[in-house]
Amino acid sequence: MVLRRDIFKLPAVPGKTLERLETHSAAETEALGARLALGLEPGDVVLVTGELGAGKTTLVRGACRKLGVTVPVTSPTFTIGQRYPAPVPVSHVDLFRIDGLAEEEPELLADYLGQHAIAFVEWPPTGSAELAGLGRIVRRVRIEHAGGDHRHVEIA
Ligand code: ADP
Ligand code: MG
Repeated sequence: MVLRRDIFKLPAVPGKTLERLETHSAAETEALGARLALGLEPGDVVLVTGELGAGKTTLVRGACRKLGVTVPVTSPTFTIGQRYPAPVPVSHVDLFRIDGLAEEEPELLADYLGQHAIAFVEWPPTGSAELAGLGRIVRRVRIEHAGGDHRHVEIA
Protein backbone atom coordinates (compact mmCIF):
# COMPACT_ATOMS: atom_id res chain seq x y z
CA MET A 1 0.00 0.00 0.00
CA VAL A 2 1.45 3.31 -1.05
CA LEU A 3 0.51 6.27 1.07
CA ARG A 4 1.43 9.85 0.82
CA ARG A 5 0.86 11.46 4.15
CA ASP A 6 0.74 15.00 2.79
CA ILE A 7 -2.36 14.47 0.69
CA PHE A 8 -4.49 14.08 3.77
CA LYS A 9 -3.87 17.66 4.73
CA LEU A 10 -5.01 19.12 1.44
CA PRO A 11 -8.52 20.51 1.21
CA ALA A 12 -10.79 18.23 -0.78
CA VAL A 13 -11.69 19.44 -4.21
CA PRO A 14 -15.02 17.78 -5.01
CA GLY A 15 -14.57 15.27 -7.78
CA LYS A 16 -10.80 15.56 -7.84
CA THR A 17 -9.10 12.31 -6.99
CA LEU A 18 -6.08 12.70 -4.76
CA GLU A 19 -5.07 9.10 -4.46
CA ARG A 20 -5.95 5.65 -5.72
CA LEU A 21 -4.61 2.62 -3.96
CA GLU A 22 -5.36 -0.97 -3.15
CA THR A 23 -5.56 -2.68 0.23
CA HIS A 24 -5.18 -6.42 0.70
CA SER A 25 -6.66 -6.99 4.15
CA ALA A 26 -8.99 -5.44 6.67
CA ALA A 27 -5.91 -4.47 8.69
CA GLU A 28 -4.56 -2.48 5.75
CA THR A 29 -7.84 -0.69 5.34
CA GLU A 30 -7.84 0.13 9.05
CA ALA A 31 -4.32 1.48 8.68
CA LEU A 32 -5.48 3.62 5.81
CA GLY A 33 -8.27 4.94 8.02
CA ALA A 34 -5.69 5.82 10.64
CA ARG A 35 -3.70 7.79 8.09
CA LEU A 36 -6.84 9.52 6.97
CA ALA A 37 -7.45 10.65 10.54
CA LEU A 38 -4.26 12.68 10.48
CA GLY A 39 -4.99 16.35 10.29
CA LEU A 40 -8.74 16.10 10.83
CA GLU A 41 -10.22 18.88 12.91
CA PRO A 42 -13.45 19.40 14.82
CA GLY A 43 -16.25 20.06 12.35
CA ASP A 44 -14.66 17.99 9.59
CA VAL A 45 -16.81 15.42 7.82
CA VAL A 46 -15.43 12.42 5.92
CA LEU A 47 -17.79 10.62 3.52
CA VAL A 48 -17.13 6.92 3.01
CA THR A 49 -18.97 5.23 0.18
CA GLY A 50 -19.07 1.70 -1.17
CA GLU A 51 -21.19 -1.45 -1.41
CA LEU A 52 -22.16 -3.52 1.58
CA GLY A 53 -19.10 -5.29 2.95
CA ALA A 54 -16.68 -3.12 1.01
CA GLY A 55 -14.95 -2.04 4.19
CA LYS A 56 -16.43 1.34 5.08
CA THR A 57 -16.88 0.53 8.75
CA THR A 58 -13.44 -1.09 8.80
CA LEU A 59 -11.86 2.11 7.53
CA VAL A 60 -13.83 4.21 10.01
CA ARG A 61 -12.69 1.90 12.82
CA GLY A 62 -9.05 2.54 11.97
CA ALA A 63 -9.64 6.27 11.90
CA CYS A 64 -11.50 6.18 15.21
CA ARG A 65 -8.70 4.28 16.91
CA LYS A 66 -6.20 6.88 15.73
CA LEU A 67 -8.44 9.63 17.07
CA GLY A 68 -8.46 8.00 20.51
CA VAL A 69 -11.74 6.07 20.45
CA THR A 70 -11.38 3.06 22.75
CA VAL A 71 -14.90 1.59 22.65
CA PRO A 72 -15.83 -0.92 19.93
CA VAL A 73 -16.52 0.68 16.55
CA THR A 74 -19.28 -1.26 14.83
CA SER A 75 -22.09 -0.51 12.42
CA PRO A 76 -24.84 1.49 14.05
CA THR A 77 -27.87 -0.82 14.07
CA PHE A 78 -30.91 0.75 15.66
CA THR A 79 -29.92 4.36 15.11
CA ILE A 80 -28.40 6.20 12.22
CA GLY A 81 -25.29 6.95 14.16
CA GLN A 82 -23.07 6.65 17.16
CA ARG A 83 -21.05 9.14 19.11
CA TYR A 84 -17.78 7.97 20.55
CA PRO A 85 -15.99 9.74 23.35
CA ALA A 86 -12.46 10.81 22.41
CA PRO A 87 -10.26 13.88 22.91
CA VAL A 88 -12.24 15.33 20.01
CA PRO A 89 -15.57 13.46 20.00
CA VAL A 90 -16.06 11.28 16.95
CA SER A 91 -19.40 10.66 15.25
CA HIS A 92 -20.09 7.66 13.06
CA VAL A 93 -23.20 7.92 10.91
CA ASP A 94 -24.43 5.14 8.65
CA LEU A 95 -26.76 6.33 5.92
CA PHE A 96 -26.20 3.25 3.81
CA ARG A 97 -29.81 2.17 3.98
CA ILE A 98 -31.31 5.59 3.90
CA ASP A 99 -32.17 6.42 0.33
CA GLY A 100 -31.54 10.12 0.49
CA LEU A 101 -32.27 12.01 3.62
CA ALA A 102 -34.85 14.21 1.95
CA GLU A 103 -37.80 12.66 3.72
CA GLU A 104 -35.95 12.19 6.95
CA GLU A 105 -35.77 14.84 9.57
CA PRO A 106 -32.69 16.96 8.90
CA GLU A 107 -32.40 17.29 12.67
CA LEU A 108 -31.51 13.60 12.72
CA LEU A 109 -28.02 14.60 11.75
CA ALA A 110 -27.73 17.45 14.18
CA ASP A 111 -26.92 15.10 17.04
CA TYR A 112 -23.89 13.88 15.18
CA LEU A 113 -22.56 16.62 12.98
CA GLY A 114 -21.28 19.95 14.09
CA GLN A 115 -18.33 21.95 15.18
CA HIS A 116 -17.84 19.82 18.27
CA ALA A 117 -17.03 16.57 16.49
CA ILE A 118 -15.15 14.86 13.71
CA ALA A 119 -17.68 12.87 11.71
CA PHE A 120 -17.54 9.84 9.41
CA VAL A 121 -20.58 9.19 7.26
CA GLU A 122 -21.09 5.87 5.48
CA TRP A 123 -22.94 6.28 2.24
CA PRO A 124 -24.35 4.02 -0.49
CA PRO A 125 -22.50 4.20 -3.82
CA THR A 126 -25.69 5.23 -5.56
CA GLY A 127 -26.56 8.00 -3.16
CA SER A 128 -26.25 11.66 -3.81
CA ALA A 129 -23.57 12.99 -1.53
CA GLU A 130 -24.71 16.55 -1.94
CA LEU A 131 -26.78 16.51 1.16
CA ALA A 132 -27.58 19.80 2.77
CA GLY A 133 -26.73 19.77 6.41
CA LEU A 134 -23.83 17.38 6.17
CA GLY A 135 -21.42 20.14 7.02
CA ARG A 136 -17.84 20.58 5.99
CA ILE A 137 -16.93 17.57 3.87
CA VAL A 138 -13.15 17.49 3.77
CA ARG A 139 -12.67 14.06 2.24
CA ARG A 140 -14.54 11.52 0.15
CA VAL A 141 -13.44 7.91 0.21
CA ARG A 142 -14.74 5.27 -2.20
CA ILE A 143 -14.07 1.61 -1.50
CA GLU A 144 -14.74 -1.15 -4.02
CA HIS A 145 -14.42 -4.91 -3.90
CA ALA A 146 -11.48 -6.09 -5.98
CA GLY A 147 -11.64 -9.84 -5.44
CA GLY A 148 -11.01 -11.74 -2.21
CA ASP A 149 -9.62 -9.44 0.43
CA HIS A 150 -8.52 -6.86 -2.09
CA ARG A 151 -10.17 -3.46 -2.21
CA HIS A 152 -9.72 -0.49 -4.49
CA VAL A 153 -9.78 2.75 -2.57
CA GLU A 154 -10.11 6.17 -4.05
CA ILE A 155 -9.66 9.30 -1.98
CA ALA A 156 -10.90 12.66 -3.13
P1 ADP B 1 -19.13 -1.95 5.09
O1 ADP B 1 -19.16 -1.02 6.27
O2 ADP B 1 -18.62 -1.31 3.84
O3 ADP B 1 -20.45 -2.64 4.87
P2 ADP B 1 -17.43 -3.59 6.78
O4 ADP B 1 -16.23 -2.78 7.07
O5 ADP B 1 -18.49 -3.68 7.84
O6 ADP B 1 -18.07 -3.11 5.39
O7 ADP B 1 -17.03 -5.07 6.42
C1 ADP B 1 -15.98 -5.38 5.57
C2 ADP B 1 -15.70 -6.88 5.70
O8 ADP B 1 -14.73 -7.27 4.74
C3 ADP B 1 -15.12 -7.21 7.07
O9 ADP B 1 -15.58 -8.48 7.44
C4 ADP B 1 -13.61 -7.23 6.79
O10 ADP B 1 -12.91 -8.05 7.68
C5 ADP B 1 -13.59 -7.81 5.40
N1 ADP B 1 -12.40 -7.43 4.60
C6 ADP B 1 -11.62 -8.28 3.91
N2 ADP B 1 -10.65 -7.65 3.25
C7 ADP B 1 -10.83 -6.32 3.52
C8 ADP B 1 -10.13 -5.16 3.08
N3 ADP B 1 -9.06 -5.18 2.26
N4 ADP B 1 -10.58 -3.98 3.56
C9 ADP B 1 -11.66 -3.92 4.36
N5 ADP B 1 -12.36 -4.99 4.80
C10 ADP B 1 -11.95 -6.19 4.36
MG1 MG C 1 -20.69 -0.29 7.42
